[in-house]
Amino acid sequence: MTLIIAIDGPAASGKGTLAKRIAAHFGLAWLDTGLLYRAVARDVLANGGDLEDVAAAEAAARSVLAVSLSDPSLRGPKAGDAASIVAKFPEVRAALLDYQRAFAAQDDGAVLDGRDIGTIVCPDAHVKIFVTASDEARARRRYLEHQARGEDVAYEDLLVDIRQRDARDRDRAAAPMVAAHDALRLDTTELDPDQAFDAVIELIRSKIGS
Ligand code: C5P
Repeated sequence: MTLIIAIDGPAASGKGTLAKRIAAHFGLAWLDTGLLYRAVARDVLANGGDLEDVAAAEAAARSVLAVSLSDPSLRGPKAGDAASIVAKFPEVRAALLDYQRAFAAQDDGAVLDGRDIGTIVCPDAHVKIFVTASDEARARRRYLEHQARGEDVAYEDLLVDIRQRDARDRDRAAAPMVAAHDALRLDTTELDPDQAFDAVIELIRSKIGS
């Protein structure tokens, strides 16, 4: 049986953690598609380029290597913000599309998470989940992550950052962040990671049966 699961949602909604656990649960491969956009931004900057330069971003997208996605520097909100700048270019999105679709086309299926998986990358996914959480809950998660690393940041600044990134992803013309019409919604505001995982498995089972 082939099972393709699309997980979309905003930054710090919990979608990445959920996607990883869902993939392990069903024995499927997982692709965090945000890493592709993060790697493009990293490569543009490493080449001395400007994130607003569409030609530089497209060139980086065409040559981005899957092996480079494990780079720890891709993690974190700064790399995410840079990614959201190059992600607005249709040329960059087009250059990354085949890789994502080929990943989804493996025999058993796959779990992919991002912003446009259910709408553009895998419109025929068997299950689509759109994960949300309040702005405040997401900023708080970020705040706790920073605190755990001993970094001193203001919660209010994180809230502003999250809202700015959401706006950039939601308001762009190319593949904006939006729930597919047939996506199941999961609000993780009041849920801890285990509760969110149980809830998402329930949603998936409701769609595909057990
Ligand atoms: O999911 P993550 O926070 O790693 O994504 C970083 C940025 O990459 C997002 O804010 C978004 O601009 C972009 N992205 C996208 N489409 C995807 C995945 C990520 O536009 N499928």
